[in-house]
Amino acid sequence: MLLICSNYCYSNTLVDKKDNNINFFKKIVIDAGHGGKDAGATINNVLEKNINLQISLILGKLISDSYPKTEVIYTRNQDNYLCLSTRTIIANNAKADLFISLHCNYHKNCSINGVEIFVLKPFKSYFNFKKNYIDNIKNVILKNKFINESIILSYFIKKELSKNNIFVRNIKQANFLVIKHTKMPSILIEIGYLSNKDDFLYINSSIGKKKIAKCILKALITYNNIVCNIY
Ligand SMILES: [Zn+2]
Repeated sequence: MLLICSNYCYSNTLVDKKDNNINFFKKIVIDAGHGGKDAGATINNVLEKNINLQISLILGKLISDSYPKTEVIYTRNQDNYLCLSTRTIIANNAKADLFISLHCNYHKNCSINGVEIFVLKPFKSYFNFKKNYIDNIKNVILKNKFINESIILSYFIKKELSKNNIFVRNIKQANFLVIKHTKMPSILIEIGYLSNKDDFLYINSSIGKKKIAKCILKALITYNNIVCNIY
């Protein structure tokens, strides 16, 4: 079943309204994984694409309620198909400050559980500066800066989830296209394993989804207070 934004009636803020948007992110892109003809993992008629969309909308609303001046951009806010490159183009065209992709995990071993957070692998082209080498050097410096920031954000998300007794299996580095081609700090969160009974029940519950979304926002606030004020 497709759930759209207006289906969510809860409202919540994590910050005092008068402090809102003091140096908080101007634009955050939230990317609900899969969609349309691409259902992602499916367990007991529960489709990953729907859970990804539901938690994306909850997180977006939570950010908007807490920081009304922050623009939340969804790569999709309904059940439509988007290819991976379109998702990165949306984020890059918007010149977003942050890209968060949300997915659910699956493993044939149903005992495997927990949240996994992915950031890009270190960017390699140190030994490949030929033509346009100045642009190349700028790209490497920027990309690695984004990777470092993404790792720090992942650490804060892990910390916040752990504080709320949500098991984080790993922070990993990978070359997933959506985090590779976005020109900003980018993370991909697998919010739990649909193939694991406990994870399934939790991420399929509205309490579970809200709790995870709140933890992500709290981590964004911590990250913003520490990292964004360094420069
Ligand atoms: Zn997925």
